[in-house]
Amino acid sequence: MADLAVDAQASGRIGVVIVGAGSGTRLGGVDKAFMQLERRPLLGHAVDAFESVDEVDEIVLVVGSHRIADAWELASTSDWRKVVAVVAGGDTRQRSVFSGISALGNCDLIAIHDAARPLVTAEIVRNGIASARAHGAAVAAIPVRDTLKRSRGEQALVESTVDRTDLWAAQTPQVFRSSVLSEAYQLIGDRASEYTDDAGVVEAAGLPVAIFPGSVGNLKVTHPDDLPVATALLRARGSGHAPCAQEREVPSLRIGTGYDIHRLETGRKFILGGVAIPHMTGFVGHSDGDVLAHAVIDALLGAAGLGDIGSHFPPHDETFRGADSMELLRKAVGLVVASGLRPLRVDATVICERPKLAGDIPEMRRRLASTLGVGVEAVNIKAKTNEGLDAVGEGRAVAVHALATLH
Ligand code: MG
Repeated sequence: MADLAVDAQASGRIGVVIVGAGSGTRLGGVDKAFMQLERRPLLGHAVDAFESVDEVDEIVLVVGSHRIADAWELASTSDWRKVVAVVAGGDTRQRSVFSGISALGNCDLIAIHDAARPLVTAEIVRNGIASARAHGAAVAAIPVRDTLKRSRGEQALVESTVDRTDLWAAQTPQVFRSSVLSEAYQLIGDRASEYTDDAGVVEAAGLPVAIFPGSVGNLKVTHPDDLPVATALLRARGSGHAPCAQEREVPSLRIGTGYDIHRLETGRKFILGGVAIPHMTGFVGHSDGDVLAHAVIDALLGAAGLGDIGSHFPPHDETFRGADSMELLRKAVGLVVASGLRPLRVDATVICERPKLAGDIPEMRRRLASTLGVGVEAVNIKAKTNEGLDAVGEGRAVAVHALATLH
């Protein structure tokens, strides 16, 4: 415990993980985090509260892998400054929390919060931070107010009344010194998934967990009946919530198109989207001739207003002879990010008579997505033939049209 006492003196960075990866079975299987409350997703309300707390340095969002682009879109329409990453959740809550923690920078304190609690307030967050600084681990909770009955069996007859003295209903946020969290997870190991919250893991490791005041208003939206209640509570707060997207200015979404065509010759490699595909001909080009990567680069540069591929990677420059075009794409993404923008989605149409590309498209999408820094669902590739018409249709060239959006 001596080292914990030393940690209590530190006042370093504070990171937040907001978990919204679960689908609500009681809400008809919809993504709970994106359910609308007063025209704003639950996730948006929750992040607004943490953004408003000065002590919070960075926030990581954990959402379903198919909602990563939606979460970034929400970030782009909000006045958030602290969201540093959006990551895909795991198959259990603990794995989701783990992914989120891994994406945080080096933080002394980590707050974990459920996106399904959209009405958390800055005051609750500040109380949690203060309590975790003092005790190492702290959980928001409220005293149990209802009388509790125990019943077993199908008849649901009451067996006994549970003494509610000393009983608390746990909420989130739960705030931990990061050293306490890692010690607890190391001790508990794989059994961590048995616990329904992070404080449970810390308790099981025999480490102290303090309670700080949550609030009845910090309710969890788990049932359709909860929404009208949450709406009424939010309205009662008046102007306390951040304006929703429709009330803001229209977000600046940048769109760019790209086009490229490369001739095919024997004795060359056929590389599309970073994937080498066995074929009797391959692309003629100064680089590796990856016509899909080139069209995507032009779409990105176009959306960012940064010119075209030739102006950044000139065809007469010997440095780019035989270059890996995915590396050029990585550099183009770097230029886009340096200009304050971020890739959102890419859609491309590859016009190619042969070979058939369907089997290779999943790998192309994966490679493009990882280079673009987006989820694979944010990259779409369509393959078409040219019906035997002109040079593309005769199999002497492959052309690609691409469209990219940035935010
Ligand atoms: Mg080209």
